[in-house]
Amino acid sequence: MANPRFVPFVDLSKQHEPLRAELMAAMTAVADRGDYILGNSVVQFEQAFAAVCGAPLGVGVGSGTDALTLGLRACGIGPGDQVILPVNTFVATLIGVLQAGATPIFVDCDLETGLMDVAAAERAITRRTRAVIPVHLYGQMVSPAALRALSETYGVTIFEDAAQAHGAEREGVKAGSVGLAAAFSFYPSKNLGAMGDGGMVLTQQDLVAQTVRSLRNYGSTRKYYHTDPGGTNSRLDTLQAAILAIKLGRLSAWNCDRNRLAKLYDHALQPLAAHGLIPMTNLSGSGHVYHLYVIRLTRDCPIDRTRLQQELAAADIQSGIHYPVPCHLQPAFHHLGYQPGDFPIAEQLSQEILSLPMYPGMTDDQLEYVVKTVMGLVQACPVLT
Ligand SMILES: *Cc1c(COP(=O)(O)O)cnc(C)c1O
Repeated sequence: MANPRFVPFVDLSKQHEPLRAELMAAMTAVADRGDYILGNSVVQFEQAFAAVCGAPLGVGVGSGTDALTLGLRACGIGPGDQVILPVNTFVATLIGVLQAGATPIFVDCDLETGLMDVAAAERAITRRTRAVIPVHLYGQMVSPAALRALSETYGVTIFEDAAQAHGAEREGVKAGSVGLAAAFSFYPSKNLGAMGDGGMVLTQQDLVAQTVRSLRNYGSTRKYYHTDPGGTNSRLDTLQAAILAIKLGRLSAWNCDRNRLAKLYDHALQPLAAHGLIPMTNLSGSGHVYHLYVIRLTRDCPIDRTRLQQELAAADIQSGIHYPVPCHLQPAFHHLGYQPGDFPIAEQLSQEILSLPMYPGMTDDQLEYVVKTVMGLVQACPVLT
C-alpha cells in the first residue's frame, strides 16, 4: 500500500483547484462591476441556495453566527423568551441566542447520533418557550417529523442551525426547510464554504426575510430611514456570493463523495466494534452529508483518546474533537448556572468522540492509510476485560 504520508483533516484545494478558472472569472467580474456591497451576485446566490434547500427565501449575512442572531430577532425572539438548544453544539449556536437577547435553555443529546434529544426538548418546554433550535450536527438532520410534531403540539418556533448540513435530507425533507427559519454558515471548511466568512438565513415567511434584510443593513430598507431596532452591519460580501455561486454547482457531488468515504470508513472500521470503537450512527442514509466523520472510543476501547490522537499525528494524520467541552461547561457561560453532571450524555460524548479526516477529494489510499493506522493502534492495545 502506498503511504500517502500526510492526511490533513480538511483539504480545500481539492475543491478549488478544479474550479480555479471559473472562480477567478467570477471574482474578476465582481471587481469589474464594482458592486461590492449587496451586488448582483448576492441576490442570485440567495435565490439559488434557497432553491437547493427547498426554502422560498434566502438572505445573505456576514456569518453563521449572525444568521442565528439576526434570524432569531427577525422571528420576533428576544428578551424574556426561552430558546431550547442542545448543549453539544459549536458555541456559536449559544452566542446567537444570547445576542438575540433570549434565554438559552440547554438539553442533552442522543448517545448514538449526538443529535438533540427531542424528548428532552419536549420536557424542557414551558410557557415562556418561544423556539427550539435543532442543530443538524455533523451533517445529519434532527428528525423533521419529530420537530414538526413539537411545533404543532406546543406552538413553538423551530429555528434550524443548519451550519453543518448544506444539502442534508431526512424523511424526504431538506435541511433549511423544516422550520420557520434556518441559519447556514459558509465558513471555508463547511460543506459549502466561501473564501472568508459568510452566512445565510433561509425562511418560509416574507416578513422574516424582509426583517433580516433590514437588520443586516443598519435596520433600514430605505437609505437613511431606520425602522428596525437591533440593526447592524452584516451582509454577505458580493465577492463571497460570487464564489459560493460557483461552488454551489458542486455541492451535491461533494456531498456524494463524503457519503462514499463515510461508507468506506464504516465498513473498514467494523472489526473494531469488538474493541469498543464505533462510528456515530447514520439514521438518514445518503441524506447524511458528513460534514464530519465522527467515531466514539467507548469505555470498552483499550486506547486512550489523547494517545490515539498523538499516535495519529505522529503518523501524519490530523484529527479533531467536535467538541471537547459542551457549552454548559465553557468558562464564558458559567453565569448561566449549569453544573457538571447536568447533561450526562453530552459530557460522556465529549470525552469519547474523535473526528477523522473527511473531505471531498480525499483519496481511497488516504482513507485506507487512516483506517490501517487506527486499527494497528487499537489492536496493539491489550483488550480490557
Ligand atoms: C460553524 C457553525 C456556526 C457558526 O458559523 P460562523 O459562520 O463560523 O459564524 C454555528 N453553528 C454551528 C453548528 C456551526 O458548525
